[in-house]
Amino acid sequence: MNEPAFRGTDYYDIEELLSEEERLARDTARSFVDGEYLPVVTEHFRRGTFPVELAKTIGELGFFGSNLPTEYGCAGLNNVAYGLINQELERGDSGLRSFVSVQSGLVMYPIYTYGSEEQKRRWLPAMARGEALGCFGLTEPDFGSNPAGMLTRAEPVSGGWVLNGTKRWITNGDVADVALVWAKVADGSGAVRGFLVERGAAGFSSREMEGKFSLRASITSELFLEDCFVPENAVLPKVSSMRGPLSCLTQARYGISWGALGAAEACYECARDYARERIMFSRPIAGYQLVQAKLVRMITEITKGRLLCLRLGRLKDAGRMRSEQVSMAKMNNVSNALEIARMARDILGANGIIDEYPIIRHMLNLETVNTYEGTEDVHRLIIGKDITGWDAFGQ
Ligand SMILES: Cc1cc2nc3c(=O)[nH]c(=O)nc-3n(C[C@H](O)[C@H](O)[C@H](O)COP(=O)(O)OP(=O)(O)OC[C@H]3O[C@@H](n4cnc5c(N)ncnc54)[C@H](O)[C@@H]3O)c2cc1C
Repeated sequence: MNEPAFRGTDYYDIEELLSEEERLARDTARSFVDGEYLPVVTEHFRRGTFPVELAKTIGELGFFGSNLPTEYGCAGLNNVAYGLINQELERGDSGLRSFVSVQSGLVMYPIYTYGSEEQKRRWLPAMARGEALGCFGLTEPDFGSNPAGMLTRAEPVSGGWVLNGTKRWITNGDVADVALVWAKVADGSGAVRGFLVERGAAGFSSREMEGKFSLRASITSELFLEDCFVPENAVLPKVSSMRGPLSCLTQARYGISWGALGAAEACYECARDYARERIMFSRPIAGYQLVQAKLVRMITEITKGRLLCLRLGRLKDAGRMRSEQVSMAKMNNVSNALEIARMARDILGANGIIDEYPIIRHMLNLETVNTYEGTEDVHRLIIGKDITGWDAFGQ
């Protein structure tokens, strides 16, 4: 067997650019995934379930809202460490990273940023420990890429609000203790408010969606609000426009940019190892130029994606990150991860479609990751507008 000079996935020694704390966060997530998640993921993917019981362990490890302050029971890590945690979780499965990112970026972040002190004290420490779970209800059956068109309405009544509407494709919907539901105020003003709707509230129900072939190890639900009363103290007081949900999406997209690299890395490592062992026409397939071209493309895109993320994280920590820059990283990294997964699947031949190997699971998952939190083309339009000044969304 010919021995390679380079064995890992860190082709540019990006490790050197990380602090001790960042490495520790990454390694902690990696050993959790290796020890507790990978042994069970295949079975969950087959059954279409998520191991919700891991929430407490994830909480103990400090992964929920890990970039939020310690004052509210969170780990207070920087954004590079937060990104690296996402990378490792998604090396396990996009469903695991989604579980943690929804809780962190789409529920804890808005409560921290737009919530009252009472809401922060009530929810953040419990969510950080994994004792309370949240979901984020923005998408509706008829409004996905254009959430501003939402039909869910909030009518002011004495002591609070009454919500009516339907949300679809909501991750963690059936297991959440609290749903952050975005609704338009029914006064014609166009204001959009965030409502913390608790499980058990009269007029609120959820139903798990079935039939997914992607992100199977993740719970996805519909939320129904039928004359659902929400008290005034459960409305996020500090935001009343689409800026609220869109700023949450920026947080989650940032985590996805890192996460996609984890899935890509898992596919690359599996394909590389397989290619070095699989003998066809008298030599390992790794010795054929066409196979090498695929492996080279994979490691090159992983390396470029990592540099993009690291720079983005440093900008975020310096308070200089723009949402359009996040769009570029999300678009680029997920699109490349999907292509890497497809190439890896090809290298494994028939073995590429069986769940004995992680590739087909990642490949199917990445179809969702390329669509949610802004489709690949929606991010293209966001960047297109940023660099030309022309809004090509079609309004
Ligand atoms: C498994 C899963 C989990 C999810 N979890 C959540 C969640 O927790 N919370 C939540 O709120 N949502 C969630 N979503 C919803 C997700 O964010 C939406 O699916 C996504 O925003 C795309 O919306 P859509 O599916 O309605 O597609 P559409 O908006 O109908 O888009 C369909 C196609 O049209 C293209 N398109 C749309 N507009 C334009 C345009 N102006 N120009 C060119 N092309 C365009 C798109 O790029 C896409 O190719 C989840 C989705 C999935 C699949």
